[in-house]
Amino acid sequence: MISEVMPSYGRADLAFERGEGAHLFSTDGKRYLDFAAGVAVNALGHNHPRLVKALTDQAGKLWHVSNLYRVPEQEELARKLVAASFADSAFFCNSGAEAVEAGIKIVRKYQAATGHPERYRIISFDSSFHGRTLSTIAAANNAAHIAGFGPMPDGFDQVPFGNLNELRNAITPETAGIIVEPIQGEGGIRPSNAAFLKGLREACDEFGLLLFFDEVQTGIGRVGKLFAYESFGVEPDVMSLAKGLGGGFPVGACLATEKAAVGITPGTHGSTFGGNPLAMAVANTVMDVLQEDGFLAGVREMGERLFASMIKFSGDHPGAFEDVRGAGMMIGLKCIPPAGDFVAACREEGLLTVPAGDNVMRLLPPLVIDETHIAECVEMMGRAWERLSS
Ligand SMILES: *Cc1c(COP(=O)(O)O)cnc(C)c1O
Repeated sequence: MISEVMPSYGRADLAFERGEGAHLFSTDGKRYLDFAAGVAVNALGHNHPRLVKALTDQAGKLWHVSNLYRVPEQEELARKLVAASFADSAFFCNSGAEAVEAGIKIVRKYQAATGHPERYRIISFDSSFHGRTLSTIAAANNAAHIAGFGPMPDGFDQVPFGNLNELRNAITPETAGIIVEPIQGEGGIRPSNAAFLKGLREACDEFGLLLFFDEVQTGIGRVGKLFAYESFGVEPDVMSLAKGLGGGFPVGACLATEKAAVGITPGTHGSTFGGNPLAMAVANTVMDVLQEDGFLAGVREMGERLFASMIKFSGDHPGAFEDVRGAGMMIGLKCIPPAGDFVAACREEGLLTVPAGDNVMRLLPPLVIDETHIAECVEMMGRAWERLSS
């Protein structure tokens, strides 16, 4: 018999009732170190006093009015995102996939509005992940995600991640833009590099295409910069955000330059819930905390320590990992045993991590961790490895 909750996820038999900073407490009273952070969502950890206050203050005033009216909290967040990025304008929605959908529409509409309606195809990369709607699974073209859901929407051409020659060969008179994660998340924390992203930028400029960075996972401080593109020195025309933006409250955003968003006029796109005052109150506070003096420098410093401790762990435990990669608080451990077994063993020891493609176990801690959390992680991972290797 089917479960009342539709069984689209394989879930661990574990539930939580409360969280505090980087820790979660399960319904059976056990304490966990949360290096999953709701898959890179709880950027400021659990029960952050400023986020709780922002949400509860807003909850006592106004929840929702729709986008038929001005939403001052939306205008405030848009101003902050625009001031802190390449972008001139922001569209608000409720999830990562919706932010990517908005970006795909912006790319196509730009070409249509500037005299190139024949340009509608978007080049994407293998092992990418852009969400679970029809067009985002078509873009990523992951066999496990598209099986049985066809026919896929037309308009996506895939090339190997990191390969500029193949990228340039794939550009046709019908190409509208390129979508890429600066560091692939679900695909297994596969970083790109400045030369590759610069090559994409040059190809876009040469052929009149828009460059679309999907920063749903890498954005909002995850890699030690507000946005990952800053660390590569390459600016996109369009960028999707979500996961960390609401610190756990559902919210997404698609940012674009004025040029890229030229076709977005009243009536061209929308979302009933997008940018509602509750989500905006929380996201504004997340942005304020991240932009405080020293916050992102702290993320970089702790990220480097976490990375160094994983390199050391890997050296001390031959047979555990064959690669340690990533940036900031987005670290991928390519496992020698099945990554799923490693994740399960860590969970048994009280450490929450996330599996990813390419047999990788991801560490995505809240951005507020300190050295005690790193030490706790290393200790529990050591016990997990003993459990696995004995
Ligand atoms: C998680 C993710 C998405 C999808 O976000 P949802 O909120 O689950 O729709 C899209 N792109 C990237 C890069 C992601 O990591």
